[in-house]
Amino acid sequence: MRAILYEDQGKVAFGEYPDPHVQEAGDAVVRVSTAAICGSDLHVIEGRLPGVRPGSVLGHEYTGEVVETGSDVRRFKNGDRVVGSFPIVCGACWYCKRDEGTNCEDLRVLGYGMFVGDLDGAQAEYVRVPNADSNLHAIDPVLSDEQAIFAGDIMSTGLYIAEKSKIRPGDTVAVIGAGPVGLFATMFALTYEPSAVYTVDLEASRLKFAEQAGAIPVDASKVNPVVEIQRVTNDRGADVVIECVGFAKTFQMALDAVRAGGTVGVIGVHTDLEVPFPLGEVWRRNITIVMGGSANVQGVWTRALDGVREGRLDPTVIITHTLPLDEGVRGYEMFRNHEALKVILKP
Ligand SMILES: [Zn+2]
Ligand SMILES: [Zn+2]
Repeated sequence: MRAILYEDQGKVAFGEYPDPHVQEAGDAVVRVSTAAICGSDLHVIEGRLPGVRPGSVLGHEYTGEVVETGSDVRRFKNGDRVVGSFPIVCGACWYCKRDEGTNCEDLRVLGYGMFVGDLDGAQAEYVRVPNADSNLHAIDPVLSDEQAIFAGDIMSTGLYIAEKSKIRPGDTVAVIGAGPVGLFATMFALTYEPSAVYTVDLEASRLKFAEQAGAIPVDASKVNPVVEIQRVTNDRGADVVIECVGFAKTFQMALDAVRAGGTVGVIGVHTDLEVPFPLGEVWRRNITIVMGGSANVQGVWTRALDGVREGRLDPTVIITHTLPLDEGVRGYEMFRNHEALKVILKP
């Protein structure tokens, strides 16, 4: 089959790869109809993730059609249209039985290397999906691939952190970061009837998407976002701040921008092992910090897709480029250079 392959640090290639087949009784093989390039694919190709085999298939956002199933697969059959999740959960452990796939004891990720299961990715003509009953979701016939694909990753991640942050009607919400996850957090925050959602980023082009979705853009290259959020909240701070960037300084910004008694939801991917933490101040100001970890996609994707079907949000607005799979290398270049917000690949 044809696929996008990790070559070496900083390098992706388009090439041939062996077709996948069912290996375990819970597997399904999906013929990929749509794949997307995710920000976390850049972590792989930039070498920030150890254990990715050179020559392996990249990618974990996809839709497609089931073409092969193992003997244990109950919920899917050949011909079913599906979206897949980026986390591959076991479906059987103590956490999975409690619908906490995010804490699965055998959590794997497609196209993410040997430390998370050594599974091939989905930017290809076919992908093998372990534990298909837990890691695929049927697509409602009224939804297009483009409307459904992000339920497997960034859209569900945005809903997951918006739900965990417990936004109430009338709240002032600040979202830090207007990348794909920040934009979905913004879109879902807006569904809670807040008084306003302020979305913060350094890039005007990304802020434009937040504004089109209904948020008030805050350009951190022009204003101090903490000062701005304090100004619009009578110096109290936002009721809820959702941090979608993953730097120590944006986490600190969230703590500075939230009101006393407010909530900071953290979904940006944090890799610092330690940072200074204002323990006394966070205690005194009674701030609730909600750590997202890797999103519980399986716990929220039905609700995310309901939101699309019922017209509460339109996930396709973030798609800036659609390319054939064989131009995927160019897609990575554009994404890496911030010329594209979201690239879709068609095998
Ligand atoms: Zn992703
Ligand atoms: Zn599990």
